[in-house]
Amino acid sequence: MRQNILRSIPSVNELLESPEISKLTSIYPRQVVVDAIREVLEDIRQSMTNKTNLSPQKLYPLIQQVLQQKLCGIEHAINATGIILHTGLGRAPLAEEAAKQLQDITKSFCTLEIEKYSGKRGFRYHNIEQLICMLTGAESALVVNNNAAAVLLALDTLARGKEVIISRSHLVEIGGEFRMPDVMTKSGAILVEVGTTNKTYLKDYENAITENTGLVLKVHQSNFKIVGFTETVDLKDLMSLGQTRNIPVMYDLGSGALIELQKYGLPYEPTVQESMKAGVDVVTFSTDKLLGGPQGGIIAGKKKWIEPIKKNPLTRALRVGKLTIAALEATLRLYLEEGLALKNIPVLKMILTPLETIEERCKKVINKVSSETRVCMNLSMVDGFSEMGGGALPGENIPTKLVCIHSEKINAIDLANKLRNSTPPIFARIEQDRVRLDMRTVYDEEVDIISRALENIFSS
Ligand SMILES: *Cc1c(COP(=O)(O)O)cnc(C)c1O
Repeated sequence: MRQNILRSIPSVNELLESPEISKLTSIYPRQVVVDAIREVLEDIRQSMTNKTNLSPQKLYPLIQQVLQQKLCGIEHAINATGIILHTGLGRAPLAEEAAKQLQDITKSFCTLEIEKYSGKRGFRYHNIEQLICMLTGAESALVVNNNAAAVLLALDTLARGKEVIISRSHLVEIGGEFRMPDVMTKSGAILVEVGTTNKTYLKDYENAITENTGLVLKVHQSNFKIVGFTETVDLKDLMSLGQTRNIPVMYDLGSGALIELQKYGLPYEPTVQESMKAGVDVVTFSTDKLLGGPQGGIIAGKKKWIEPIKKNPLTRALRVGKLTIAALEATLRLYLEEGLALKNIPVLKMILTPLETIEERCKKVINKVSSETRVCMNLSMVDGFSEMGGGALPGENIPTKLVCIHSEKINAIDLANKLRNSTPPIFARIEQDRVRLDMRTVYDEEVDIISRALENIFSS
């Protein structure tokens, strides 16, 4: 039988010459197709299953699947999870203005490090620094790869070999790779924990100060809440302590909101401006969380502390490229006029989308599905909650509307899989054994794509 199976396996050349598989060589590079064929044939040899039909037609989907898996890269996805800052789906989507700026500066050369008026070599961060200072009230600023890099670099510069005083309630983990105590160790700073998980007083910080104290660090509890019997020290009080003892105070803000969200009926999230007003020496924050820009981290604050950070050799290793600078500049420029930021930055727009708009999108998805397809499933609109995600507004649920799908033909897990394997992939939620599509995070242009995907799945 073994001999029979081996004999029935076609050769690579036979397959390449077949009409079905030769189509693949017009889509994919020939060598990659050859490798995929070998892989599929090897699998058959290894498993020795008596596949009676090893015709090119039967092998075509297997080979195509291998090719797709090998060559699939980052692609556009539809986020119907309702998690606005979804790290898996690339965190903040960019504003049109930022996307356009990326196009404009990347197709040819650009003035990354040159001063066009004088023709002299300029400082890569000059323009963006001015913009950050203008928006936040900082004296000086720097952009690096992400906020994790910003924290590492600031600690390395200001506190290497020195003690950093931090409340036990601020020793946060943001996601597997970012744990405050580990970042501190990596930077060569010595961690001095004060207070307890729920209560830390000013005197705790005060009592911990020694000759070797390099920094007082406050960290925003961006992805969790401590409620009940609690006490934390205001930034203002930490600042006066720092000033009398001549120790810099740094605040890792995490999300870096530039707009007061409370004004728009949303929960409180500390803004960068408010920390600057309190006189903080250094703040660090992400540019792809609430700020709504590309991945990046900003270090901003008093010149006295930011200038040495700029000169740290590590800065060169953590510097950002022109793509980041272009997209971030364009995003920040929108903040010069709050109304423009709210209207054009997708993250802000999504948080503030009124329920009626979301409801309309739900109805469109439902109505676009043909009546023949609709008989295979139960399509309805239900209430639910969206989430900020990405370490902002923890525990705060934003009311939303969702399309709920129930079918006797396909169970929820299979349906979610099929949606994810559509083109473009659609990411949904499963709740109470039903697939749910939160239309808060779905763009208007994507609504029809969802209906079409449902149509395809249920008609095949
Ligand atoms: C998100 C976050 C970080 C890490 O920022 P990245 O930009 O993801 O590197 C660090 N500190 C706090 C408080 C955060 O919320």
